[in-house]
Amino acid sequence: MRLKTLELNGFKSFSRKTVLEFSHPIVCVVGPNGSGKSNVVEAIRFVLGEQSMKSMRGKLGADLIFKGSQKLPKGSRASVTIYFDNQNKAFKLSNDAGEPVNLNFDTVSLSREVYPDGLNKYILNGSEVRLRDINNLLASVNIGSSGHHIISQGEADRILSANPKERREMVEDALGLKIYQYRIRDSLRKLEKTEANMKEVSMLRRENAPHLNFLKKQMEKLEKAKEMQTELATLYREYLKKESVYLENEKKILSTEKEKLTSENKKISAQLSDIPEDNSKVGGEKIAELRSTEEKINETRKLKNEMGHKLGRIEGMIEIEEERQSQEPKALILSREEVKSILDEINNSIDAAMGKENIGEIRTILQQIKLILDKFNKKEERQGDMFSLEALKKNQKEIADEIKKIEEGELKLSKAVEALKLAINREMESLRDKEKEKFSLKVRQQELSSALELLQMREANVSKGEELFQNEIREGQALIGEAIVSYKEFQIEGKIEEANQVETRKKIERLKIKLEDAGAGGGGEILKEFREVSERDAFLAKEMGDLEKSVTNLEEIISGLKEKVDQDFEAGVKKINKEFAEFFSILFGGGTASLNILEERKRQEPIFDEEGEVEEKEEEDAPSEKGIEIKVSLPHKKVKELQALSGGERSLTSIALLFAMSQVNPPPFLVLDETDAALDEANSRKYGDMLEKLSKHSQLIVVTHNRETMSRAGMLYGVTIGPDSASKLLSVRFEEAVVIAK
Ligand code: ATP
Repeated sequence: MRLKTLELNGFKSFSRKTVLEFSHPIVCVVGPNGSGKSNVVEAIRFVLGEQSMKSMRGKLGADLIFKGSQKLPKGSRASVTIYFDNQNKAFKLSNDAGEPVNLNFDTVSLSREVYPDGLNKYILNGSEVRLRDINNLLASVNIGSSGHHIISQGEADRILSANPKERREMVEDALGLKIYQYRIRDSLRKLEKTEANMKEVSMLRRENAPHLNFLKKQMEKLEKAKEMQTELATLYREYLKKESVYLENEKKILSTEKEKLTSENKKISAQLSDIPEDNSKVGGEKIAELRSTEEKINETRKLKNEMGHKLGRIEGMIEIEEERQSQEPKALILSREEVKSILDEINNSIDAAMGKENIGEIRTILQQIKLILDKFNKKEERQGDMFSLEALKKNQKEIADEIKKIEEGELKLSKAVEALKLAINREMESLRDKEKEKFSLKVRQQELSSALELLQMREANVSKGEELFQNEIREGQALIGEAIVSYKEFQIEGKIEEANQVETRKKIERLKIKLEDAGAGGGGEILKEFREVSERDAFLAKEMGDLEKSVTNLEEIISGLKEKVDQDFEAGVKKINKEFAEFFSILFGGGTASLNILEERKRQEPIFDEEGEVEEKEEEDAPSEKGIEIKVSLPHKKVKELQALSGGERSLTSIALLFAMSQVNPPPFLVLDETDAALDEANSRKYGDMLEKLSKHSQLIVVTHNRETMSRAGMLYGVTIGPDSASKLLSVRFEEAVVIAK
């Protein structure tokens, strides 16, 4: 890394574009008083990001812009650009997250512009950047912002007059520890931000807490309700399944029963309609037959009787005849009565025959009549023996045969009567059975209609039960949702006990009431809100954790960096002291000088002991800040206090220290504005030697009136101010420079 060029445009007295090349290790700027040499030094301060207007001898940004003169107009802005050779890629830049930014330029150019309104622009290789970026960039090449490498006019002993803390900053800067300080500062800023975020997060969490608690309680309630829902669902599954099975069974049973009852009823109705209402005709034909048969028997008996009579008479006649024959035959004398009886007999027989339709009967009667007539005829023939015994006996036999025949017929008829009676009885008997049957059918019919009525009642109960079942499903659905239908999958084990169902039903009702009280509705919204709020809280808690982690992390980084700074600082101070003592001894021809690190206790609290004495007690964890104290001991002099040194001695001491610091950690360049002003000839030579020594590691830009110093420069610029009140720069030879400088 090397300083290449400085370009001024409208900056202070440099109204025109002015370019300084730094192509030699020591470049001197010479010129008369007020020509603008210090403006060049200030241009370097300016472009490197100097914020103190005082150190650039101005009050406002506008003071840095060319003010104009009688011949020249004032500038619209002041602009300075500095070019660095960056072929070794020494410049490093990191973004806010600490990641490196690609800075692959062979030449790094930094520009700063200031406008009349005080606006500043910082430009890195053509891109506008922030002051922070400039500071970080420069710190990476050991160009600190404390300006220890730019010693303005009359400022050489600034390090002597500064307080211990300021001195420490300068030394740290010179040691290149500024970059760590920046990092510490960045980390502290991050820490501050993180802590602010933590505060905000914990505030948000605190704000959320009551709502979250409320939601948690609601969730607990919901959880309980959910438990109840689960319990209800379990109860419902079994209960509804059993209920549905019961109803289904009941329906089946009822329908089978109904079918049975109805078909029996139909059958009975059919049976009843089969039994005739009027039973008088039952057996009518047989009874008529019975009557006629009985009549026939009567007639047969009558005939038999008559025949019996006849037979008796004939047998009487036979007796008489046999008696008469045994006695003397007697003459047959018929009395009128006898004739009349014969005639009547015939007459009656004819009457009887006339009443008959049956030819057989009529014939029988006609035969009787013939017999009567034959008998009378025989009586006539015999005249004495009118009726022969033989004829009588023949007749007797005939009649007896006839009677026999009649008796046979009678027997037949009697048998027929018996059979008829039996048949009629049987018929009558059967008629009585039908009545009984009719009665019992009617009784059964009555029973059946009662049973059917009962069945209808049960059917009504079942459909009422089904209605209730559907209602239950609807109510259950409102409470446990679609899970209600899962009862269908329930497997029933064992019998369905009515008592158990009643018990379950009670439990279900109790749960329903409880659930309705708990207000299970709106659970979804609460859950959603609870999820949102608790997710947010969890997010915040996680963020809090992350923030806590990054606080720890940052604190570790900070303490690590501080430790590093402390260590490097102590080691650096040691090295500086070595050089300081050497330079001091060269300049003063002896004596000693050193830097001492001071432990500056920030917080000290007075503590009173038992005797009331004040006891200074160090706070153990109170942060301490180290300062720097300068101790000098001049040769042959007892003076040790800085204040007691002469102007020249102060100047020499400052130079010794500045050069020592630059020697330990050489800055890329060092700007010295008339640091040599107070030196006598001998010291000027020593100063010149020291410049040459320093120039081996750092480029030197030296503003001087000192001839000795000029003689050490490889390149000389003369600054003059023309009649137009603008500074003019020209490259000059040593001899010219000596002239110009006067
Ligand atoms: P010395 O050798 O006495 O220290 P010098 O060469 O360092 O002098 P400077 O202090 O750099 O001189 O220059 C100061 C000059 O710059 C003054 O003449 C001053 O008027 C001029 N100057 C300062 N600011 C402006 C400005 N904004 N516009 C024009 N000229 C300015």
